[in-house]
Amino acid sequence: MDRRRTSHKDKLRMLPSIDRLLLGIDDAVEVYGHHAVTKALREVIQERRKRIINGRSSNTDEDSIRQAACQILEHSTVPRLRRVFNLTGTVLHTNLGRAILPAVAIEAIKSVAADYSNLEFDLDNGERGDREAHVESLLCELTGAEAATVVNNNAAAVLLVLNTLAMNQEVPVSRGELVEIGDSFRIPEVMQRANCTLVEVGATNRTHLNDYRAAINDQTALLMKVHTSNYKIEGFAKEVSETELANLAAEFELPFVMDLGSGSLVDFARFGLPREPTAAHVLSQGADIVTFSGDKLLGGPQSGLIAGKADLIRRIKANPLKRALRVDKMTLAGMTEVLKLYRNPDKLQQALPTLNHLTRSQEDIRSQAKRIVPALLKALGKRYRVEVVDAASQVGSGSLPTRTIPSAAIGIRSDTAGEDITRSLSAAFRKLPIPVIGHVHKCVLLFDLRCLDDEAGFVSQLESLPN
Ligand SMILES: *Cc1c(COP(=O)(O)O)cnc(C)c1O
Repeated sequence: MDRRRTSHKDKLRMLPSIDRLLLGIDDAVEVYGHHAVTKALREVIQERRKRIINGRSSNTDEDSIRQAACQILEHSTVPRLRRVFNLTGTVLHTNLGRAILPAVAIEAIKSVAADYSNLEFDLDNGERGDREAHVESLLCELTGAEAATVVNNNAAAVLLVLNTLAMNQEVPVSRGELVEIGDSFRIPEVMQRANCTLVEVGATNRTHLNDYRAAINDQTALLMKVHTSNYKIEGFAKEVSETELANLAAEFELPFVMDLGSGSLVDFARFGLPREPTAAHVLSQGADIVTFSGDKLLGGPQSGLIAGKADLIRRIKANPLKRALRVDKMTLAGMTEVLKLYRNPDKLQQALPTLNHLTRSQEDIRSQAKRIVPALLKALGKRYRVEVVDAASQVGSGSLPTRTIPSAAIGIRSDTAGEDITRSLSAAFRKLPIPVIGHVHKCVLLFDLRCLDDEAGFVSQLESLPN
């Protein structure tokens, strides 16, 4: 007992001092700074001290400690937010960043980020200008709205509209439309935070025009319809159309607001995709305000767009909350370029990455899968079976919820019957320099290639997979 304690003491004494360790680690100090290097060295010493006290072997060599500290420092500077390959088959994947931007938008963002800009400066008269002027005029052009504004996301758009137009008043909404998006956006809760009272009308599956009519009283601020973007009520179901609601709202001189969720600026049917309501259509049906996301089907940077009647938009812009929810110059620069692409719908499919991914043919994706299989077989070795299978992609972000798009995937499974390798294998793919994210279905790891643009980049890192 005594002898062991002495030997621990001796060993602890052999651990070099921080000052001493700092002498031979100039390069790291240059890169990470004195403070961070000292902290990392302390961490290593601490850990080795603990090992000695617990009677375990511990390397007290100076260089080994410096090396361990450098590893900690390197690890701590790997960017936490980084590029991945989205091979989930879900094009607008909220967890993977939703829309990816076209090159023109990225250029515009770079340009305003790296230099001064006329963000709120009118170059014609040399006076203060409106930061949203470009986006607003494009939105009006593309939706037919009288006026428009933009905020941080669609949740913010809904909050701002309700808080401006319905504070301390009532808003009737159909029970079938009290949606939850992700786990943090629920219409009833947003209503509460906007300081207005939700009046539920109708039943979950059926709501009639008379249900709305019965709910209207002198406390009613507006009528609202929410596009049930991530589910669909089918069977014995009835909802009140936009036109009917618009007419009812007009009868009582109330604004009619529609939250489109994803929404879009062109009819997706022209690209062979299922129809999603366009902002222009809903406004033409009599909506006074529409709200929709900028980074769902629209394919732009994260934002929420509000378009409609000029007097209402004026009130929305004047709400002090607007300042708190406004977007920055990079979003405005990127969004302007994305909206400009919509002026030429014939070129849109090519120009907008989201739409390009959504419209890739199954045949094209299958050929790509066939090209990649040999490289995967080579990298993975004989223990795996790799094959091309049919797949069903999803739009994602709650858009077009009940429709899938025929696609092709690479399926990887163990060659040994019954063995489930998908957990460890999908973890190995996530550890690659550019993490690869697929999904697992019935013991098969599936990579839907619909969103794979950088095929060479994907293949070249396969050799980093452990054998
Ligand atoms: C997605 C969605 C929202 C929230 O939009 P974000 O841009 O994610 O903030 C709100 N309402 C509906 C109907 C949606 O689909």
